[in-house]
Amino acid sequence: MIDAHCHIEQKDFDNDRDLVIEECKKELKAIITSACEIENFLKTIEIVKKHKNFVYACFGLHPEYIKEISEKDVENFFDFVKENLNFVKGIGEVGLDYFWIKEDYWRNKQKELLERIVEFSREIKKPLVIHCRDAYKDLIKILEQEDAKKVLLHLFGALDLVKVIGENDFKITVGPIVDRSNKHKEIVKTLDLEYIMTETDSPWNNPNNRNLRNIPLNVKFVCEKIADIKKIDLKEVIEKTSKNAIEFFDLNES
Ligand SMILES: [Zn+2]
Repeated sequence: MIDAHCHIEQKDFDNDRDLVIEECKKELKAIITSACEIENFLKTIEIVKKHKNFVYACFGLHPEYIKEISEKDVENFFDFVKENLNFVKGIGEVGLDYFWIKEDYWRNKQKELLERIVEFSREIKKPLVIHCRDAYKDLIKILEQEDAKKVLLHLFGALDLVKVIGENDFKITVGPIVDRSNKHKEIVKTLDLEYIMTETDSPWNNPNNRNLRNIPLNVKFVCEKIADIKKIDLKEVIEKTSKNAIEFFDLNES
């Protein structure tokens, strides 16, 4: 099992991060964390170094923070990634968020930034991890226009656009939300396993709204749910989703 999208660098884990990671090592093959605040980038590299061949990292500028992202930040981000390529498994999370950002001016800024980032990811040959909320049509337009190839749509939720995944050979992650959302269940039912990875988005997105702390280990609930929905063996879900993540993030090469 692999948690292909979480945020293990977040302060929620500051008190017991190593313990949580050691616990995860007992059952998971890998954790891929997405650091999307510049102030957490160096901290993330330290975590990756400490848990080599288990914790891997993506780096991004989250679209939700568009109003605080300066041109200097964007340049610093590109420089940081280029200088630390050995530690970069992907660019993310990046994307569009029209749920939090309502003004046209700022939505356009998100689009411009995303176009630059897609171009950059192609240049450095790293995959993209995309966050999208209420903006799938614009997102797909940019990805197709920029000819983005290796794309993971984290917590993909656009049932009406599900055919785009297969057409472009994009991947998606399924998270704990699948337990309570019929739309996400339908997406899992529709898509072949070859397009699916598993995630927790921890420390956020509690599984089942239970009073559980969300840690990467909870991908096991997601795997069980997928097996349930697709009426297939849990072992098959674990094997295929892990293989997908290993290939997508080139985990064997490190
Ligand atoms: Zn996330």
